[in-house]
Amino acid sequence: MAGQGSVKFQRKNQQSMSIMDFFNMFPDDESCLTHIFEVRFGQDYCCPKCEKSAKWYRIKAERAYSCGNCGHHLHPTVNTPFEKSRTSLRLWFYAIYLFTTSRHGVSAKELERQLGVTYKTAWRMGHEIRKHMSEVDGDPVLGGIVEIDETLVGGKRPGKRGRGAAGKTIVMGMLERDGQIVTEVVPDVKASTLMPHIEDHVEEGAEIHTDELRSYSGLTDEGYDHKKINHGRKEYAKGGVHVNGCESFWSHFKNAVRGTHIHVSEKHLWKYAKEFEFRFNNREIPREMFPKLVNQFLGEKDLPSSEEP
Ligand SMILES: [Zn+2]
Repeated sequence: MAGQGSVKFQRKNQQSMSIMDFFNMFPDDESCLTHIFEVRFGQDYCCPKCEKSAKWYRIKAERAYSCGNCGHHLHPTVNTPFEKSRTSLRLWFYAIYLFTTSRHGVSAKELERQLGVTYKTAWRMGHEIRKHMSEVDGDPVLGGIVEIDETLVGGKRPGKRGRGAAGKTIVMGMLERDGQIVTEVVPDVKASTLMPHIEDHVEEGAEIHTDELRSYSGLTDEGYDHKKINHGRKEYAKGGVHVNGCESFWSHFKNAVRGTHIHVSEKHLWKYAKEFEFRFNNREIPREMFPKLVNQFLGEKDLPSSEEP
């Protein structure tokens, strides 16, 4: 959906984008709005009202463009994280930049400091950006060897392993070996809860590695090549069967949540998991994380048809 004339991002090496690159690309609010317009619509975009290819004129008084044929207004920020915000686009872009260069996540306190906005605004921005990261990351389908493992996050005794402990949130992870991960916050670890997520995200016939949790025992009947490890007997890596990749993702995630955010409520945890999922899934291409997030928004079919956002 990237339109013509959008900002070109170079891929020089595997480093994250530098802050100088960022400031050169987006020196002001106008350059951010132009960028959003270009990647979503662009000149000659077919006007939804007069249905003709149009030349679009910037309306200075608002974040909008006007159709050269019929005067219809197009608001490039509709259905983006920035839509209902009075915070400048450049601060939004900079906040997104911070999310792509962080390893341990970005707290609301940190955004408040770096952007000079109120804590409330910073908190809301963080959550909008995490949701956007989740949308852009999408729902990859996993194949080959897939590790599946759940973990408990939060609560009074962080890090202590056990299932269903009070005050903790359960998150399941499905990781294609050397590939992408998909996380899902789940209410419990019953087979009826976990299985639909697996069927959604893992190709039929894939080799699935799990621990001995009974909820996974139906995987073979569902057409998967299921291999179990037994943590209790210290058979962590028996015959290449393990969930070490998943466990190291959880370890990093939980340390970061503890260190950066102190406490994350169950209601919001999925967004933090998706934030880490996005960075993990783009770990080989750090320079492309920021471009992905500012080049991908919902398509035109998702735009409301009325003139006002
Ligand atoms: Zn028109």
